[in-house]
Amino acid sequence: MRKREIEVEEIKNAIELKLETLFGRNLKNASKSQLYKAVATALRDDIMRSWAYSKEKVLEENGKELYYLSMEFLMGRFFHNNLTNLMLEEKAEVACNELGIDLKEIKEIEPDAGLGNGGLGRLAACFLDSLATLGLSGHGNGIRYEYGLFKQKIIDGYQVEMPDPWLEDGNVWEVAKPEEPEMVYFGGTVEKNMENGRLTILQKNCQCVKAIPYDVPIVGYKSNVINTLRLWGARALKPLDMGLFGKGQYVDALAEKELAEVISKVLYPEDNHEEGRHLRLKQQYFFISASIQSIVRKFKKIGNKIQDLHKKTVIHINDTHPTLAIPELMRILIDQEGLDWEKAWGITTQTFAYTNHTTLPEALEKWPEELIKQLLPRIYDIIHEINERFCRDLWEKYPGQWEKISKMAIISYGEIHMAKLCIVGSFSINGVAKLHSEILKRDIFKDFYEIYPSKFINITNGVTHRRFLLRANPDLADAITAKIGDGWITDSFQLKRLETSCEDAGFQEEICRVRQKNKEELAKYILDTTKIKVDLHSIFDVQVKRLHEYKRQLLNVLHIMYLYNQLLDHPNQDMHPKTFIFAAKAAPGYHKAKLIIKLIHSVADKINNDRSIYNKLKLIFLENYRVSLAEKIIPAADISKQISTAGKEASGTGNMKFMLNGTLTVGTLDGANIEMNEQVGPENIFIFGSTAEEIENCRKEKSYYPHEIYKKNDDIKRVVDQLINGFIEPEHPDIFREIYHDLLYGHGGVADPYFILKDFASYCHINKQAEETYKNPKNWWKKSIINIANAGYFSSDRTIEEYNEKIWKLKKHDF
Ligand SMILES: *Cc1c(COP(=O)(O)O)cnc(C)c1O
Repeated sequence: MRKREIEVEEIKNAIELKLETLFGRNLKNASKSQLYKAVATALRDDIMRSWAYSKEKVLEENGKELYYLSMEFLMGRFFHNNLTNLMLEEKAEVACNELGIDLKEIKEIEPDAGLGNGGLGRLAACFLDSLATLGLSGHGNGIRYEYGLFKQKIIDGYQVEMPDPWLEDGNVWEVAKPEEPEMVYFGGTVEKNMENGRLTILQKNCQCVKAIPYDVPIVGYKSNVINTLRLWGARALKPLDMGLFGKGQYVDALAEKELAEVISKVLYPEDNHEEGRHLRLKQQYFFISASIQSIVRKFKKIGNKIQDLHKKTVIHINDTHPTLAIPELMRILIDQEGLDWEKAWGITTQTFAYTNHTTLPEALEKWPEELIKQLLPRIYDIIHEINERFCRDLWEKYPGQWEKISKMAIISYGEIHMAKLCIVGSFSINGVAKLHSEILKRDIFKDFYEIYPSKFINITNGVTHRRFLLRANPDLADAITAKIGDGWITDSFQLKRLETSCEDAGFQEEICRVRQKNKEELAKYILDTTKIKVDLHSIFDVQVKRLHEYKRQLLNVLHIMYLYNQLLDHPNQDMHPKTFIFAAKAAPGYHKAKLIIKLIHSVADKINNDRSIYNKLKLIFLENYRVSLAEKIIPAADISKQISTAGKEASGTGNMKFMLNGTLTVGTLDGANIEMNEQVGPENIFIFGSTAEEIENCRKEKSYYPHEIYKKNDDIKRVVDQLINGFIEPEHPDIFREIYHDLLYGHGGVADPYFILKDFASYCHINKQAEETYKNPKNWWKKSIINIANAGYFSSDRTIEEYNEKIWKLKKHDF
């Protein structure tokens, strides 16, 4: 059924009916959680009807479809977003009001779908929003982790990880399809036979795991296209071993079930770091095998010929985690569809496209040959053959150049290089910001760029401006709409029209008023969660993102210590009050990152409790950073810190969320900051620090001596010494010695590998400049408006349009 207008009365009736039929309750005796579920399922009924309609229409058209494979989808909450996208926000508000339900309060009941670590997973989520909004058929495929990213608690300044059982209370947004499982096979042996002159492949003695699809509707803004996020859950083939059960061995009877179901149990919490574990590999193969099988099954079911797969299907690989999809499709085409190698390879290499997300060596995935051979013997055969043929081609091209060829080989020194397999098996390889894509071509994939120059492209990341501006900052959205109309919601480039109002005093005041209100809300949250009172007239200076050495939260802290020293020396100096806000999870095994979290807390304790500085500095750490917390913090930020070591942050997307909200950026020339600088103009952003080229030269020439800087600069020497002289932790002066030692002497011979001391002076200077600018409101709010006006480029709508033009070539639906 096509979408139709829904009236307030209907919503009210639906909610009351849901309370009765789902819970046997009414408005008077329902719990908050029941109220949330009643309202959400009432909304879901409407989505289900439109979803069915959308699927029917898409099927009729039988056009090209995209499958976006990703180990992570950091979706956050669905309820409010779905309300917004269905244009039902106001009516739901009225309905709830009339029923005496506090809509704002029940929205907070929904747990975040935290099925991702950070930028990579959130990007996948933003892409789904833009795909549906733009009327494109693009579906997500991932894993239904029973436990999402851990919950972070801070105890005594240290991070403690707690499980995130987000499904415990049910999930309103998923539809389980146990009747449509796919079977995924691990281990066993491969038997090759000749039958009637044709090679047949038999996999024997495998362990089989059932993959159950859980489908989530993806609702675009004012769009009739509703796509599907398909998350796979692992189930054992047999619920229990009856033989053992009959003998009373109950625990053993369940062992196999546990072993199978552990596959989709928990998300690995490493961001920008490879996790070379057996179970991780199982997760990867589990979800890509189920995905590829179901894609092929659906394709054939509607009467398509397998030879045409690439004409109507494009499969996108989000980083190398789903790389095994390439040999898996080969396996299906050859072993099950009976195609020969050349034909299968032709189809496969025209079906896959790959996005690279990082150049950090510790994040580049390699798997031991032996592990793959043992766990996925047939897949190993295929990868081996791909490599043989690839090396043969190289030999033709570079006769005698053994060294070059062995450097490029997919399998070398007993390891399989997933990125290389992706490059060879895909028709498109893209980086996620200009600088990053250049580094791919010039540096880490130079040899591959030489043979496949046209495969390499750039598509700069974006974020959905609907979730992060329209929804997260409704007052700012209203102010914008009052000025330029609401066209910007589906055409982000229309934000440009704000630029002519950048000096409009009334508009500036309005933007300022909205920020102030958002700061008040965040201050309340800070008070509730940390018991710390912050100054509403202070500059809210925010760094929120995963904790990683390359993101340089340490540089931020050292600068705060420097400011504190300044105040200690000159308590009456004219410094605008500042509230520094951090939020960040560290990977549980990442010792140094966790130590930096402790450092932030120790410095915070010292500063926040020092009455002598008249509350001019406050340092806040908000625990458990996640999408729903980002949505609270970002609209209240005056300054956004994007200070990674140049060349290390592939793009960043947090930077874009802040820009859309009129926050000014203090950042390095790294990732998408470079393009933000281009879009907004250098006078409207605070750029500091070394360039990627300068950093690279230091590294190559080994010409960086942080100890020299330390000796020469008294301010730096003072803060670095304070790490170990008892200034921060008088009782335990040694807890931060490691940080001190790394900065001055390093480990493995490289001191200060992230160039913190090198950029320190420049960082202090730019912060001072930002403060001075803040003191002049006319100038500040002008820059803020210019930032919003030029943020349209960073909408994921633009990103998706670009992917579609350059790679996917899908037709937009217009039903
Ligand atoms: C946007 C986002 C990120 C990515 O932030 P970066 O600053 O680009 O690293 C990470 N986590 C969450 C919850 C986000 O919303």
